[in-house]
Formats: sequence, structure tokens, C-alpha cells
Amino acid sequence: MSVPTHGNLIDGAWVPARGGATFDDVNPADTSDVVGRLPASEAADVDDAVRAATRALPGWARTPAPVRGRHLLRAAQAVERRLPELADLLSREEGKTIAEARGEVTRAVRILEYFGGERARPSGSVIPSERERVFMYTKRQPLGVVALVTPWNFPIAIPAWKTAPALVCGNTVVLKPAEQAPLTALRLCEILQETDLPPGVLNVVFGSGPDAGAPLVAHPGVRAVSFTGSDVVGREIAQVTARRLARLQLEMGGKNPTVVLADADVDTAVECTLNAAFYSTGQRCTATSRAVVEKAILPEFLDRLVARTAALRIGDPRQAETQMGPAIDAAQLETTLRYLDLGRQEGARLVTGGERLTEGALGRGHFLRPAIFTGVLPDSRLAQEEVFGPLLAVLEVDGFDQAVQVANAVRFGLSATICTRDLARALDYVERAEAGMVMVNLPSAGVEFQIPFGGLKDSSSGAREQGPAAAEFFTETKTVYMKY
Ligand code: NDP
Repeated sequence: MSVPTHGNLIDGAWVPARGGATFDDVNPADTSDVVGRLPASEAADVDDAVRAATRALPGWARTPAPVRGRHLLRAAQAVERRLPELADLLSREEGKTIAEARGEVTRAVRILEYFGGERARPSGSVIPSERERVFMYTKRQPLGVVALVTPWNFPIAIPAWKTAPALVCGNTVVLKPAEQAPLTALRLCEILQETDLPPGVLNVVFGSGPDAGAPLVAHPGVRAVSFTGSDVVGREIAQVTARRLARLQLEMGGKNPTVVLADADVDTAVECTLNAAFYSTGQRCTATSRAVVEKAILPEFLDRLVARTAALRIGDPRQAETQMGPAIDAAQLETTLRYLDLGRQEGARLVTGGERLTEGALGRGHFLRPAIFTGVLPDSRLAQEEVFGPLLAVLEVDGFDQAVQVANAVRFGLSATICTRDLARALDYVERAEAGMVMVNLPSAGVEFQIPFGGLKDSSSGAREQGPAAAEFFTETKTVYMKY
């Protein structure tokens, strides 16, 4: 079967890379299935996109904000209409289950709806002057051309949650999605473009991080960069943007704990941990990769968690009964296998999972049985480093204070869960957890679109994303003094 070939969106037209090179988008559940072929863009393509965005900027910035928002509302309706097709594409190129894919596309709809109305709300303030007949107020205005660089693990939600606030705030956009799952982002851009966005307001360039991402974040015409991905790449981008004082927002990794206190409801604790550790194949920045469990509840919690984990149905993510799909690619699978070896070398005990699955059709994809290690020491590499796969480290603690100390003793600080029935302990944990998002009796990975998202320590840098916080990043404040 011939593979559909797609272009970059530059200045309102879908065009191949100037160099003519392409790369393939491959189904991680069946590597013989090539989902699409995309342009392998380079600096010249990026430059075309930034120039188009620069030309489109004055007109878009002048367009009344509620009119800009209507494009997003129309796109929300179109995404919702096409939900089954988009969810299937997402599941096929990224490997999350069809139920998770439907959830993610629905989230993109909600994000577009939310930001569609956002700039119709007041966005400045009137502040009294100490002088007579002086009127002072603030207003928010767009930054200019913004670059959005996104990872593969939420291939429609993250492009949506960066693009929607950027556009509604009056910026023009160049988006660079990840190579491993670019097509759902392409469909989103297609849908946005079909709302009659003026040419150049939204541009998308496909290609690798080094060839397309690096020239984009380094481009002198780009006023701000919003990036989600690994902290290694985030740090590189920070050095590049600092040189020209471009504004930067970084959302990076996590090593998120689920703390289980002795008084927890065991069913809730097992459900939260199973969901956060293994759904989406553990490939969520908010995934739980450490369970920090009080000794008194550990045997019962572990027995039930291991039984539930071993029973997870792994397979083709597009089949309704599947509960966990493949790793995104061979490299990510290798990383998880390396950490399995490391855990054994460090003396932790593998109590379930960890085998590659290769029987029958599974042999065509990157499948692995989800793994749990017990007896993990807090300062071991398994307890400290992000794996980004279905691997959970269980750490035993003697009480609440030790649980807090162990949960906090990593360089990341994105999301943290506590399972307890003690309200005072829960509130204490909210105060003491070194994490940007704290969950009580809920999975570390379940976030909503209308409230700020982001972390502390090495997990994030710059303004928060989503909800009302998003506009802080994508606008400047202008202060006005007026004598009358
Ligand atoms: P990467 O950091 O490798 O890539 C993220 C994006 O950056 C991709 O589009 C990538 O392109 C691009 N990129 C790579 N190198 C450069 C560069 N030098 N300059 C500009 N852009 C570049 O992360 P992954 O895609 O592998 O995603 C996994 C990581 O992302 C995990 O560590 C995870 O924790 C983190 N993540 C964080 C989230 C958060 O909100 N905090 C959410 C989701 C993931 P390409 O891949 O095409 O080469």
C-alpha cells in the first residue's frame, strides 16, 4: 500500500521540505505499518516558517481577541466531529490505547473551547493614580512569533494546549511536533487552518530535534519558546534562548511519587498506582515511578498491586479490550530494559513483569510486561532517574515523616500523590511535597485543562501552562498613564 505523504504548513500552504527529504511515522505496535511520510525539515524550512509568521503578525495581533477565539471554537467543533478518526490515528502512531486516545482528543476539544473564550474575558486592570485626573491601566499584548516544540507522548493535547493560548493571545506560531507521532498534530493544524486562519498565523514544520527544532529555537525572529520534553534538551534550549533574552517556558521530566500511608484505603491506593504507573505504558511526565509505602500496609498493597499488574491486558492498542500498548520505539524500550538490568544490579527485587513480549503479532511491536521492583533504596539510580516506561520502584518507609523525606529526595518535582484517609496528613503533605501538582487519593497523572499545569525543581521553568496561567506566558503587560 502506498504511504500518504504530507507537507509542512507554511504561509497557509502545505509544502515539502526544501531539501526534499522525508521521514516515516511508524506504528509502534506493528513496525511494518508506516502511518505517513513527512518532510524532514531543516534550517531553510524553519526560516520560511518564521518569515511567514512574522509577516502575519501585525494583522493577527490587531484582530480583536474574541474574533481570534472564534477560530478555536470552530476548530473545537471540527475536532469533536472527527473524534473517532483522530483517536484511531493517535492510537496507531503513538501506541496508547484507544480509550486513552479518545480521552486525549476530547481533552484537545476542551482546551480549544476553553481558550476560544479566554480572551473575551477582561485581561488588564485599572489601578488608581495618586495624582488627580490621571487614569492608569494595564493591558496585555502579544509577544510576537512564538516557537512551540512538543513531545510524542501527548501528540494532540500538548500541541493544542500550547497553540490555542498562543493564538488567542494574538501571537503567530511555528510548531515543531516530535518525529515519532507527528500526524495527529498535523490534523490539528489542518483543522485550525480550515477555520480560515490568515496565511502564516499558524505554521508547522516537521523534522528532527537537531535539524528542525534547534534552528527554530535559535531563530532571531522567534520571541518566545514553549517546550515540553526531556530536561536534557530543555537545558540546551535555555542556553540558546538566554543569549538573545527570548522568553522561555520549559515543561520537562518527573520522578513522581505515590505515597501510601498505613491508613489508606487499599483499593484506592492500588487503583491510583496502577493507573499512574502503567497506563499509557508509563510514558507520561506525570506517571508514578515510585510508590513510597508505609511498612504496615506494604504486604497487602503489594499483593493486590502485583495481581492487578500481572493481569493487565497488553496488546494492539486499537483493540477495545487492551489496557496497555507498546513503548513508542525501540530506543524507549531499550531504555526500560536497561533500567530493569540496573535495578537487579542495584539489589532491588523484581516481583512481576519485565519480560519483552514477542509472541505472534506482539513480535512486530515494542511490547514489554509492566514491571515492579521492591526493596528499592532511595538513593539508587532506579529511585532517582526518569525511566519513561512501565517500571515502578517500591520504597518502604517507617512513617509519614520518612515518606515525605523520601518522596521529596529527587531532583524532579512535577506531580505527587498521597493516599490516606487522614485529612490532617493530606493537608500536611500538600504543604511539604516538593511538587508543582499534588493529588490526594487520585493518580499522579490525571490532570485537567482549566487549572495550571507545571512542576518545581528540575521539572519546569518559566510560567505555568494551561488554565488562566497560560496567558501569562503568551502576553506582555503594557502599563498606560493618561492625563485628562
Ligand atoms: P525530547 O526532549 O527528546 O524531545 C522533545 C521535543 O524536542 C521533540 O519535538 C524533539 O524533536 C525536540 N528536540 C530534540 N532536540 C532538540 C533541540 N536540540 N532543539 C530543539 N528541539 C529539540 O523528549 P521526548 O520527545 O523524548 O519526550 C520524552 C521526555 O519528555 C520525557 O523526559 C518526559 O518526561 C518529557 N515530557 C514532559 C512533559 C511535561 O509536561 N513536563 C510532558 C511530556 C513529556 P524529535 O524528537 O523529533 O527529534
